[in-house]
Amino acid sequence: MATSVTPEPLGSAPHFEHQRRGREVGRVLVLNATYEPINVCTVRRAVVLLLKDKAEMIERAEWELHSATSTMARPVVIRLVSYVRIPRDTHRRKITRRAVFARDDWTCQYCGSRSNLTVDHVVPRSKGGPSSWENIVASCAPCNRRKGNSLPRQVGMHLSREPRTPNPNVFIQVASPTIPAAWRAYLAA
Ligand SMILES: [Zn+2]
Repeated sequence: MATSVTPEPLGSAPHFEHQRRGREVGRVLVLNATYEPINVCTVRRAVVLLLKDKAEMIERAEWELHSATSTMARPVVIRLVSYVRIPRDTHRRKITRRAVFARDDWTCQYCGSRSNLTVDHVVPRSKGGPSSWENIVASCAPCNRRKGNSLPRQVGMHLSREPRTPNPNVFIQVASPTIPAAWRAYLAA
């Protein structure tokens, strides 16, 4: 790490660029002080955290980033120096199709199909079912149609597992289209 660089206010990091990859590709896995994965950020954001000594480099790429005045390894995994308390409900709000599918392993929770996935309210909205993690599952279109406005048990359908708020790793998968090999050891929890 280039310690000669004077830390600057957040958001005004020197302009490091990938010399070999051309443009800023990929993301950086952010671990809490406890090594628990909490987030994914841009390379630029990771550089700011490293330069401000708010994070330490855990895994680095083989190539380097260059700015006009300094050089540093491209961060791949960083760890926050101080523990950040993640509010319990942080992830509750982020209910997206992709996150629901990722939580449910891209599998219909009624029949196990992996094609034609839709999002289903277990207790239909028309019956007061909330849009919560506990009431939304991945469902293939045929199962969704068959279920219609009924409760699963009314039409003899069963969930393969109880829907819950997903593990934070799900959001890391959603935020990064591909999971670099160097992240796997930290996501294996
Ligand atoms: Zn199905």
